Amino acid sequence: MLAPSPLVDPFGRAVTYLRVSVTDRCDLRCAYCMAEDMVFLPKKELLTIEELDRLCSAFVRKGVRKIRLTGGEPLVRRGIMDLINGLSRHLDSGALDELTLTTNATQLSRYADDLARAGVKRLNISMDTLDPEAFRRITRGGDLAKVLEGVDAALGAGLKLKINAVALKDDNVADLPDLIEWAHSKSMDATLIEIMPMGEIGPDRGDQFASLLALRDDFAKRWTLTDIPDRTGGPARYVRVEETGGKLGFITPLTGNFCEGCNRVRVTCTGQLYMCLGQEDMADLRTPLRASEGDLLLEDAIDEAITRKPKGHDFVAQAAAGASAARHMSVTGG
Ligand code: SAM
Ligand code: SF4
Repeated sequence: MLAPSPLVDPFGRAVTYLRVSVTDRCDLRCAYCMAEDMVFLPKKELLTIEELDRLCSAFVRKGVRKIRLTGGEPLVRRGIMDLINGLSRHLDSGALDELTLTTNATQLSRYADDLARAGVKRLNISMDTLDPEAFRRITRGGDLAKVLEGVDAALGAGLKLKINAVALKDDNVADLPDLIEWAHSKSMDATLIEIMPMGEIGPDRGDQFASLLALRDDFAKRWTLTDIPDRTGGPARYVRVEETGGKLGFITPLTGNFCEGCNRVRVTCTGQLYMCLGQEDMADLRTPLRASEGDLLLEDAIDEAITRKPKGHDFVAQAAAGASAARHMSVTGG
């Protein structure tokens, strides 16, 4: 049988990176991500663990080399280790270079060893502050101690970690240097994320927007920052902090443009394939998944969707108009 052709979009970009949201649920309620009274999807809407495996495996057959599981919080999804253990066969066969997760780390002390055994090598940990009170406020009730335990368990299991923090004007900007120094002292990279207009969450998110360009200028007064030409096809730009020896990334969807090298697509926990984080166009993959036990319909739907991958996102225009994308970040997983 001929191998399916790799996924190349109309702008010549090969799609090699798949991000999959495995649940819309979460044990935290970060104020910039979710409304306090989020209504979650009924279980039957979600792809089953078997369907998630079929979907990821179809993308691997089509040339995807890296899969990131996200959410909601991926480690609160029941059966998550069955999915990860199953997908690890693609690591063993060499078809997949990397299987990784973005997690809030609250469940990591329980899962770190299992993840390492399954061949997971790196994790992105989302954590916005080292101050327990600010953490509780930002996450609407989260316990920082649990997260720190999770981080230590993951480091103990030999996983390589990157700390991601959303820069929030009033809530954490002043604490970010501490967080970065702490991360670097544990040999973890750190990345700062500009708040994005995703989903209705209540109070105006614009109030919390902090420009990373301005933050970078502040950091340059404190530390020596050296640019690193590190292009992963992703939206982050990196510097080395000479004083700590660690790497610091900046993700600036509003003030920078990062679409030209985009190599990724995203699937929601209900099987909707989004070709761009900032656009509404999507393809329903759940219907072809459920229509037959074979994967031909699914593969055709994926091929067709990639022909619609847009050149870039609309965040700047949306933000200027005061609007936000209709989806919460927890739907597409960031
Ligand atoms: N629960 C996991 C976690 O927090 O790592 C995975 C899902 S979470 C939606 C993925 C990332 O999106 C997190 O780093 C979070 O900080 C980020 N995020 C959520 N809402 C955001 C927003 N409105 N703007 C920018 N980043 C956001
Ligand atoms: Fe949960 Fe992650 Fe969203 Fe925070 S950012 S509410 S941890 S999904």
